[in-house]
Amino acid sequence: MEMTRRHAIVVGGSMAGLGAARALANHFDRVTLVERDELTTSTANRKGTPQAQHAHGLLASGYRILSGYFPKMMDELVADGAMPGDLTGDFLWYQYGGWKLRSNCGLEGIVVSRPHLERKVRERVLALPKITLLQGHDGKEPVFDPGTRRVTGLRVRNHSTGAISTLDADLVVDALGRGSSSPKWLASWGYGEVTETNVPIEVGYATGVFERHPGDLYGSIGAVIAGTAPQSTRYAAILGAESNRWIITLAGCLRDYPPTDFTGWKEFARTLPTPDVVDLVKDRAPIGPIVSYRFPANRHRHYEKLKDFPDGYLVMGDAVCSFNPIYGQGMSVALTEARALDGCLAAGDDDLAKRFFREVTRIVANPWAIATGEDYRYPKVEGRRPPGFTIVSRYMERAHRAATKDAVVLRRFFEVASLLAPPPSMMAPGIAWRVFLGGGGVLRKTSPARKATP
Ligand SMILES: Cc1cc2nc3c(=O)[nH]c(=O)nc-3n(C[C@H](O)[C@H](O)[C@H](O)COP(=O)(O)OP(=O)(O)OC[C@H]3O[C@@H](n4cnc5c(N)ncnc54)[C@H](O)[C@@H]3O)c2cc1C
Repeated sequence: MEMTRRHAIVVGGSMAGLGAARALANHFDRVTLVERDELTTSTANRKGTPQAQHAHGLLASGYRILSGYFPKMMDELVADGAMPGDLTGDFLWYQYGGWKLRSNCGLEGIVVSRPHLERKVRERVLALPKITLLQGHDGKEPVFDPGTRRVTGLRVRNHSTGAISTLDADLVVDALGRGSSSPKWLASWGYGEVTETNVPIEVGYATGVFERHPGDLYGSIGAVIAGTAPQSTRYAAILGAESNRWIITLAGCLRDYPPTDFTGWKEFARTLPTPDVVDLVKDRAPIGPIVSYRFPANRHRHYEKLKDFPDGYLVMGDAVCSFNPIYGQGMSVALTEARALDGCLAAGDDDLAKRFFREVTRIVANPWAIATGEDYRYPKVEGRRPPGFTIVSRYMERAHRAATKDAVVLRRFFEVASLLAPPPSMMAPGIAWRVFLGGGGVLRKTSPARKATP
């Protein structure tokens, strides 16, 4: 059915909401972004996104979508102190007992704090004349018309006055994150129960911010240091950020939570497979307190499985699917969904929800397979392993080893991890024989200290 495209509302002004607003501006006369927090121009952390204090990596897929929607934004971030670099030439990866080959793979990235990235995206989104921000307002619930079986607007509550009002809209997009109430609303409108898949991982984060000195960490812009599952549950991400900072997140899954006192935090870091975090902070104290976060489970809500769905309503971002954060996928997945929304609207109005949720299901399938595939290596993680799980896991271990010395495997590996290529492409013939030849034998300990020339 044709929909008028006068006004769209996005509720939730974080990365999914910002991406959605940008996409909708291509198709609607007006877009209103409703956000509960007061969004100042400061990059201080805000209440609605407590995760933003922790290391946030942007995958190459997300980097490309942001660069496409907001030309020159990456240059502006760099001018503000963010650091650009090659994903494997300038960023270091220790996984499965070895450093990945430090050599340019051609995939571009940037390291920056999450609040700073979000602020920059927000500035660019709000610079578009069609988009208006309604901040300090709670999206209370969408307005559903049982006669036409469509959502016709959103009830909002002004935070400071408590006043409730209704905004009319042709389309409402729920980008409320994991706390979204869409399943409850849909059930109350008679659409039945939204089923969900959960893979509990119980990961805890503890993050400190430190001064960055020239020459730190072999002159790189960051590193991931991961213990090998299932023996180790521990992990660290060191990310460069604006204002000469390192954001250092320690993480432990299956309730192996890192402490937030600096002494305990350093003890935890000492148990990582390389001493780099300990070396980096040995003569530094954290700037401000070490902050923590707990994430219970990978969760996928299957909106695509509902038999029917109201017109004028969509759900996206973490509200649909959220992943164990150590794989750094959420922002890039949300942005990929925003681009898909753009494509679905360009193709017309018929069956919009059905087409959009089909796309979302396709988009989340790969990051879900990557995140849960790694998490399932822990026997304690509950859930049905996919067919061939043990063989694929062994193959991927060899692929990790091969990527410590083979630049072709390395590139494909990061294309897959960055959601630019599907996981089965790791097994394409041109890659598989390199994995078999390069992934066996004793692990050659490559050094991250110098970049290899191809
Ligand atoms: C600890 C941690 C680390 C992470 N690390 C990474 C990483 O390295 N890389 C990566 O890509 N992703 C990472 N993620 C995931 C990433 O943060 C999210 O996927 C991303 O922010 C997109 O989420 P979202 O916009 O759907 O929801 P959220 O970011 O949760 O945003 C929801 C928004 O809705 C607003 N809101 C809530 N209720 C209301 C209401 N009633 N009315 C109006 N507004 C409301 C909130 O204030 C907020 O702005 C991490 C997540 C966690 C938890």
